[in-house]
Amino acid sequence: MGDMAHPGLTLHELERLVGYPAKGPGPLSYTLPPSPELKGVQAVRLFYYPKDPALQLIVEVEEFSGRRHLRHFRWNGFTWEVPEGHKDLRATEELLGFQKVGEDYFLGFSREEARELAGALRRGEVPGAKYLLCPKCSARIFYAPGTNPVGVACPACGNPTLLFKTLSPGERKDPLEALAEEQKALRQALEELLAYLKRKLGP
Ligand SMILES: [Zn+2]
Repeated sequence: MGDMAHPGLTLHELERLVGYPAKGPGPLSYTLPPSPELKGVQAVRLFYYPKDPALQLIVEVEEFSGRRHLRHFRWNGFTWEVPEGHKDLRATEELLGFQKVGEDYFLGFSREEARELAGALRRGEVPGAKYLLCPKCSARIFYAPGTNPVGVACPACGNPTLLFKTLSPGERKDPLEALAEEQKALRQALEELLAYLKRKLGP
């Protein structure tokens, strides 16, 4: 917030950090780089909403446990003030149109659709699904047909440079299912071996 001697983060500085307006009309995000002052938390992220007159900045502080705390601010031309009526906002991902299910993010899907898709992905049923991959934190962002994935920043770490990917068959299979399949194959191999030995050696 700053004081008389140190003005703190200004609107202009925020816009420079998130890359507004070069990166589009927003919302835009920026993750503060690690520093000794921030060593007690997982991450501090700034979300900028240039088109929202009532709510322009969300500061999200993520604990190491994953819990998130949100503070909401509006620029009054001089400093940041807390806007009225924004006391019970939902998680930042939902504000940005993201749904998080398990480790993956879903853009442009309802909560139910995202859950269904996450289940299908886990079962390996949607080869060819398109998604964005964050090269920094390996978050995957699946996007619905009709959503524009260009310019999307990583909802987990704020990285604005995401890779376009297509899910190859069998990718990131449920580890339990993979294990069960392995066990089945192993059991079959053992049975074949036993049958072979019985034939060779007699009962
Ligand atoms: Zn990321």
